[in-house]
Amino acid sequence: MYDYLIVGAGLFGATFAHEATRRGKKCLVIDRRSSVGGNIYCEKIEGINVHKYGAHIFHTSKKEIWEYVGQFAEFNNFVNSPIARYKDEIYNLPFNMNTFSRLWNIKTPQEAKKIIDRQRAECNLKEITNLEDQALSLVGKDVYEKLIKGYTEKQWGRKCDELPSFIIKRLPLRFTYNNNYFSDKYQGIPEGGYNQIIEKMLDGSDILLNTTYQDYIAAHPDTFKKVIYTGCIDEYFGYKYGELEYRTVRFETEVLDTDNYQGVAVVNYTEAEVPYTRIIEHKHFEFGTQPKTVISREYPCEWHKGIEPYYPINNDKNNELLLKYQADADQLSNVIFGGRLGGYKYYDMDKTIEAALALVKQELN
Ligand code: UDP
Repeated sequence: MYDYLIVGAGLFGATFAHEATRRGKKCLVIDRRSSVGGNIYCEKIEGINVHKYGAHIFHTSKKEIWEYVGQFAEFNNFVNSPIARYKDEIYNLPFNMNTFSRLWNIKTPQEAKKIIDRQRAECNLKEITNLEDQALSLVGKDVYEKLIKGYTEKQWGRKCDELPSFIIKRLPLRFTYNNNYFSDKYQGIPEGGYNQIIEKMLDGSDILLNTTYQDYIAAHPDTFKKVIYTGCIDEYFGYKYGELEYRTVRFETEVLDTDNYQGVAVVNYTEAEVPYTRIIEHKHFEFGTQPKTVISREYPCEWHKGIEPYYPINNDKNNELLLKYQADADQLSNVIFGGRLGGYKYYDMDKTIEAALALVKQELN
C-alpha cells in the first residue's frame, strides 16, 4: 500500500516525492514516458547535455528555492543572453540599450526614451486590449515589428491582436546596457544536466515507467491512499467538457561537425518568414568544449491528442473550461492536481518547485 501514487515524474512530482519520502511516506511514481524528469530531461549526445524537451535555464529571485535546488546539483554561472536575428540584423535581448543603440544608432538612455515615447504617441492607443497594443505601448513600432510580431505569431499561431497582453509582460525592458534576459538574483544550469536532480529527488520512491495512470489503476486498484496527478487535468476527466488547448513545439535536433555553430546558447529568429522560432546550441549552457556541437530548431505547432502538450493557452475560453474541470477536481478528496499540466498554468521551474513545496506544507506538515 502506497501513501501516494504520483502520476508524472517531472519536477513537480519529483519534488513532492522527495519531501514525502523524507517524511516517511511510501510513494510510487509512474510516468507514461520511458524516462524520468518530464520536460527537463536531458539526453547526452556527443558528450553534450541536450535539453530534449526545450531549453531550461534555472532562475529564481528566492534564496530558499536556489538553496533547495542546490542540494541536488552544483549550478554553474550561466547567464541567459539570447540574440535575436531579424533578416540580416542581429540584436541583443531582452530589449535594452544594446538593442536600441543597434536599432537607431543612438548612445544614451535619454535618446532611446525619446524615440520610444515618440513611437508610442504615434500609435495613439486609448486602451490596451491585446498583445499588439501592449507591445506597441511598451516599446513602440520598430521593436514591435522587428523583434516581437513575427516571433510571437509563430510561437502562438495566432495574430498579435488576438492574443492576451500578459504574454509579453514576461519580457523585461531596460534602459541599461544589460543583456541578462532574467531579472532574478539567482540563475544557472546544473553542471552535468538536470537528470541528476530528478534522480536524487526520486531516491527512495518506487518508479514505474512506460505506464499510464489508466493502465496502472486498472491493473492495481486500491494500492494507494492518495493520488498526486501532474498530467493534463482535462485528460483525467476524459475530456468531458472538451479539450483545453495547448501550444506545442517540435524539435529538429542535429549534430554538426563544428565546435561552435552560433556562439551563444539561444538565437531567436524573429521574422515571420523563417519557420522556426529559435535555435538552441546546447553545449553553451555548460560552456562545453566538445569537438562537435548539437543544435535544436524549435517549430511551434498546434497541439492535438497524442502529441506532447507544452504551453497552456490561457485565453478566456480555456480559462472558463479550466474552471469547470477544477470544480470537479475539488469534489475529489483523494486526488490532488499539480504542475504545469495539472494546473494548466505556465510555470517556470522555480515556481514549479515552490508550488510542490506549498503542497507538501499543506499535506504533510
Ligand atoms: N517574445 C518576442 N520576441 C522574442 C522573445 C519573446 O516577441 O524574441 C515574446 C513572445 O510573445 C513570447 C513571450 O515574449 O511568447 C515570452 O517569451 P519567453 O522567452 O519568456 O518565452 P519562453 O522561453 O518561455 O518560451
